[in-house]
Amino acid sequence: MDAIPATTDETYSDRLLAFTIPARHARGRLVRLDETLDVILAAHDYPPPITHLLAEALVLAVLMGGLVKDDGSQVTMQAQTEAGAVNLLVCDYKGGELRGHVDFDPAKLAELGANPSLFALFGKGYLAITFDLAGGQGRYQGIVPLEGDTLAEACERYFYQSEQVPTLLRCAVRSDDDGVRAAGLLVQHLPEGEEGRERLHAKLDHPEWEHVAILAGSLRHDELLDDELSLEAIAWRLFHEETEVRVQPGAAIARGCRCSVEHYRSVLERFPEDQRVEMRDPDGIVRVDCAFCSKQFEITV
Ligand SMILES: [Zn+2]
Repeated sequence: MDAIPATTDETYSDRLLAFTIPARHARGRLVRLDETLDVILAAHDYPPPITHLLAEALVLAVLMGGLVKDDGSQVTMQAQTEAGAVNLLVCDYKGGELRGHVDFDPAKLAELGANPSLFALFGKGYLAITFDLAGGQGRYQGIVPLEGDTLAEACERYFYQSEQVPTLLRCAVRSDDDGVRAAGLLVQHLPEGEEGRERLHAKLDHPEWEHVAILAGSLRHDELLDDELSLEAIAWRLFHEETEVRVQPGAAIARGCRCSVEHYRSVLERFPEDQRVEMRDPDGIVRVDCAFCSKQFEITV
């Protein structure tokens, strides 16, 4: 694996790194979120447990979004519950643009203490992951219960149950005086190839996968968040004994939202007039909230 130096000047913050290990039929993604996270969080005033939860969700959205082609395809992650402290968490990723928000009950959250478990936050919740593929390639969605200790564990279950793809996910989040930093690793085993084939033999005890999962699982949270360590260097540390690891820097990541007066007007124009009448306030204005941006738009239509 001489193509990857142990250290580089480029730490790939707010960037995705893709890699494959051809001999093991494995592929991976690494991401570290920096300023993108600051910009997303700045639109809200979330308490620490919600900030931590959203940061983890955003990392997962990028890791999963990085699996689809950068051609307008979108990945959406939605975690929902009926009676938990968190009502709804939504993140999506499309072509390097990332956004997310959380709707929660402050009174219920306050009762949970500083480090609530995933179950405490969501109660009996579920996680929906949707891939909207561009160019007429279709849309598919998997829904799994929000079980386990972390969102990452619930996403691992999604890949195994809905896609029959053994997947390891690791997320690390740190909050300190410098703000919030988050990073993550995804590794998958695709013994039948990348695209389109029924994966009849996907199983967690495949020797190729066991080997890759042990190496990937040795990654520590402090390594993921270490500014001195580039994402390439992390891939090198984990897999330097493999005969070949191919790396490919992926999209630059930035905070992005599609909300605008023009966007909402075009959406509202598709409603029949009798429905638009009901949406208007006494001044004849339709007020639309963008929950991602915590902004309200006043639309005349
Ligand atoms: Zn917005």
